[in-house]
Amino acid sequence: MDRCRFTSSWGGVVRCGEPVYRLGFCRFHFDCYVRGEIDIRGVISERVTDQERRRQINFHGLPPARTTTSAA
Ligand SMILES: [Zn+2]
Repeated sequence: MDRCRFTSSWGGVVRCGEPVYRLGFCRFHFDCYVRGEIDIRGVISERVTDQERRRQINFHGLPPARTTTSAA
């Protein structure tokens, strides 16, 4: 099964663990791509300035242990 290509910008290379929905993205990250919040390589856009939204996008699909560490 293919995994979502989104790569979190939090603390190095952490990939989203969700199965692929379209264009190599899971359902959530495909929606982000359509909104222009991430690019086709799976990297979050600098245009997303809302920290809460960035957090949501970065943390979606990550293992729970990763989301509780303070990676600033
Ligand atoms: Zn994803």
